[in-house]
Amino acid sequence: MNSKLTIIFVLALYFISCKTEGDQPEASSILLFNGKIWTGDDNQPWASWIHIEGERIVEIGGDEDDVPEETNEIDLQGRLTVPGFNDSHVHFQSAGALLLGINLLDVNDPVGLISEVKGATERLPEGSWITRGDWGAYEAWGVGSDGSSRENTIFTPHRSMIDSITTDHPVLINRYDRTEGLANGLALKELGIESETGILTGEVFLDALKQVPEKSFERRVAESRRALAECRKYGVTTVQDMSALDQVDVYNAIRADGDLTCRINFAPSRLIEFSNMAEKDWIISRDEYGNATTAGDDWISFGTIKSHIDGIMGARTARFFQPYSDNILENANWRGGWREFSEDMPNFKKMILATDSADIQLRIHAIGDQANSILLDILDTLEIINGPKDRRFRLVHAQVIAPEDFSRFEGRNIIAEVQPYHVTDDMRWMEERIGYERCKGAYAFKTLEDYGCILSFGSDWPGTNASYYPINPLMGLYAAVTRQTINGEPEEGWFPEQKIDLEKALKAYTWGGAFGAFEEERKGVIEVGKLGDITVLDTDLFNTEPDEWLDANVDFTIVGGKVVYDRLQQE
Ligand SMILES: [Zn+2]
Repeated sequence: MNSKLTIIFVLALYFISCKTEGDQPEASSILLFNGKIWTGDDNQPWASWIHIEGERIVEIGGDEDDVPEETNEIDLQGRLTVPGFNDSHVHFQSAGALLLGINLLDVNDPVGLISEVKGATERLPEGSWITRGDWGAYEAWGVGSDGSSRENTIFTPHRSMIDSITTDHPVLINRYDRTEGLANGLALKELGIESETGILTGEVFLDALKQVPEKSFERRVAESRRALAECRKYGVTTVQDMSALDQVDVYNAIRADGDLTCRINFAPSRLIEFSNMAEKDWIISRDEYGNATTAGDDWISFGTIKSHIDGIMGARTARFFQPYSDNILENANWRGGWREFSEDMPNFKKMILATDSADIQLRIHAIGDQANSILLDILDTLEIINGPKDRRFRLVHAQVIAPEDFSRFEGRNIIAEVQPYHVTDDMRWMEERIGYERCKGAYAFKTLEDYGCILSFGSDWPGTNASYYPINPLMGLYAAVTRQTINGEPEEGWFPEQKIDLEKALKAYTWGGAFGAFEEERKGVIEVGKLGDITVLDTDLFNTEPDEWLDANVDFTIVGGKVVYDRLQQE
């Protein structure tokens, strides 16, 4: 095979297999009536019934229109109904692993540890390893973002706490900072390590991690099935996934069983392939790749490559023009795991150019103001070299924008792939990190919108080893509209001039995601011809206070005309 085409073939093979393997079960037809339906379509924003045949919407009507005859029907009983939520940024593989495995972020005592470990043993078949966990994270967070006194307050577990409940499962879990692990008796035996406490540190811990057997394909499928259940529960009908490329095999397996209940827009981030590509001057031409932006089909699609240009705020690895306010020595280096790659700007730029030349959409992580600014410079260059086109350049996070850069968004259909819930989570220490002035450009959803930037909302589920970001879109809507913590702080909202209204927020969580992924022809609004992806809520967001949204439920999730979640049936 011509090495130049390797990546294209790899991707093409995945999508050929997507198309040939079993399809989702055919939905026949369904009528949803007596609803308060927010369509997201500016020409007909409200409706009261929707008729879906097969996977697509065939008719929509208001109170004044005759409701069609249909045997399969759901009485919405006046409930608010919206286009299915499109979460434009998730890490599906990690989310599934956390849900089926163990999440110890908020655990900092023996009682919590025992109960979580017990839960994991009940979910996982005998012999499966229980790994990760990240205990003590929230405790560390509570102590202070600089981490000064963490070590004193994070509890140290002991294998005796879990040995008796884990006789069938080897356990190797770790503290939030991943410098210390706890192994149970069974794991120690399998690893050939002697330890009375089970606490492993340094080289011993790192070696132990390397010895943990790789997850079986079945386990990975089970994890993703667990994550799909979470999507159904929260009315998410499309996720845009940043998992590693081999996750597509998992999706194909679930799809072959007819159980894929959420559409996947896949954004692999393969820096290795790309740095090789750039090094070897692999420039993919449009003809060779075809219409990259719409590869795949309605269920599994592909159109973007994800990359990074800086790090994150929490670790002070985000790139700013000026030093961090609480540490004047740090802003001068590109840091983090991707340092090597992004330090090499010529190579990075080559990769960008190759991708853009092939009509593959770019989706690049940028947090600091300088990182965002450099990406706008790169966009300028692309427009000069490859000419103007509908490229929908995506800034992933677009977290802090320098005041002079906002006007550069005008008229360019730039997509801000933002996670409103981050606002509520980060605001506690943003000002300490970067100061009041720079915070004016942080999560500046209103200003970005005003300059014509397209907001595409998502969650970044499941988050990091410092915080769990739930997939629940209602939390994102709450954050965008209030800019408050879930406890309602501060009273007016954090930089309240950046609040957006509910309708705009809903649009960013539905149409924005679809448009951002070149999928607005298929989904994103409730309109004749679009896929029948619909979410029914038990709470009318338009007539309730945002704090009530946090407890609201999804009653029905419908994907392609098929009810995949019915809350009352579940209970
Ligand atoms: Zn992410």
